[in-house]
Amino acid sequence: MSLAIEGGTIITLDKNRPIIKNGLLVVQDGEITFVGEKSEFKESLDVERRIDASGKFVFPGFINAHNHMFQVFIRSVAVDMELLDWLKLAIWPFTQSLTESDIYVAARLAIIENIKSGITCIVDNQYPRFYEPVAKAMDETGIRGVLACGYYELNVLDEMKTEPSEALKKCEETLRKWDKAGGGRIRVCPAPMHPCFASDELILKSKELADKYDTYLHIHTAESERDVRMLMERTGKRDVEYLHDLGVLDSRFLAVHSVCVTKREIDLLVASGAQIVHNPISNMYVCDGVAPIPEYIRRGLNVALGTDGSASNGNQDFLSSMKFAALLHKVYHMDPSIIKAQDSLEMATINGAKALSMGDRLGSLQVGKRADITIVDMFKPHTVHVHDPVGSLVYSCTPENVDTVIVDGKILMENRRITFTDEEEELRKADEVAQAVKERARI
Ligand SMILES: [Zn+2]
Repeated sequence: MSLAIEGGTIITLDKNRPIIKNGLLVVQDGEITFVGEKSEFKESLDVERRIDASGKFVFPGFINAHNHMFQVFIRSVAVDMELLDWLKLAIWPFTQSLTESDIYVAARLAIIENIKSGITCIVDNQYPRFYEPVAKAMDETGIRGVLACGYYELNVLDEMKTEPSEALKKCEETLRKWDKAGGGRIRVCPAPMHPCFASDELILKSKELADKYDTYLHIHTAESERDVRMLMERTGKRDVEYLHDLGVLDSRFLAVHSVCVTKREIDLLVASGAQIVHNPISNMYVCDGVAPIPEYIRRGLNVALGTDGSASNGNQDFLSSMKFAALLHKVYHMDPSIIKAQDSLEMATINGAKALSMGDRLGSLQVGKRADITIVDMFKPHTVHVHDPVGSLVYSCTPENVDTVIVDGKILMENRRITFTDEEEELRKADEVAQAVKERARI
């Protein structure tokens, strides 16, 4: 399908031409073929769909670089708790009660919520039983996604453990079946949950699998001091030191969180070129601490942004994540310019694309890139009048401002209406299923 977005202000994130007023963006077969001022387009505009974006702002689609979508059913099940208690007392028991069909319903709900927040790509980390229903939901809805195939081996409830050979087998089957499915829209990667929940051998074999399929290795890294201590009891090393000594840190390593690190560990991350995934709201929610994000950026590391699951965030509001990614570090360092609105927007777009080795295909609005686009309407009581589109996006907008979302040239939401399903019906179904799960879990 071909389409044109006409008349809006385009925030390209192209360093040569950052903002284009009265713009035109043309898409053919899911690829951007023209970005510029309308007046520069000299051919006749022959497209199947025209979207009038007059008075609106056109951004690259947002990339949610860390999530656990099934947690939309566990919002507020465990509040006001520290990370390990939160996992043991509520998250793991509830998770055990979810069936594959429950997960499918949860994933569809989470995808709808993510789209309503302007997100066009989701990195979702789950457990073996969940791979298939999550992949199916990504495939059917049209969202771009990365299935980070998670598994636990040590230090968890017996019911949560997966035999290492079984975990790797299931992950490889998922890689074979789903990696690059949907015309390249879906990617898959191994994702042992935390260093403290896996043996050396399982982490090393996961890295081998990632290299074999030319994909990433995704691991929660240095998330909280308590899980770092758990790893130290077994290995005598902190998370980043340990992962470095195993030889798995490189530019395809997604170091999710990276909060509790020493100076030496920051040096190791910098030397390896690992990808940092920052989840500011989750880090505050379970009191992990404050990740040294300004230091990472200053030292040249790429920092992407995630919501994390709804159970350690509250929701999937990515505009809030962008806002907190700036505000948290400003107040922590008592420096209002240490992370700027532009830095937050880059974490949410181009840095997410780079973290997924897709910087040449996603993350900015440039000719030749895939058409993942978020159109924002700021003609609302809380955002009119717009002096600075990036400042308004990061500090004033809420998901209510997200108007239209396009992935691979396909419109998934238009004028806030989800195009691929009946949204109210999906919500009703999700509500019923969540209630049934709660009864089974006896929470
Ligand atoms: Zn997580």
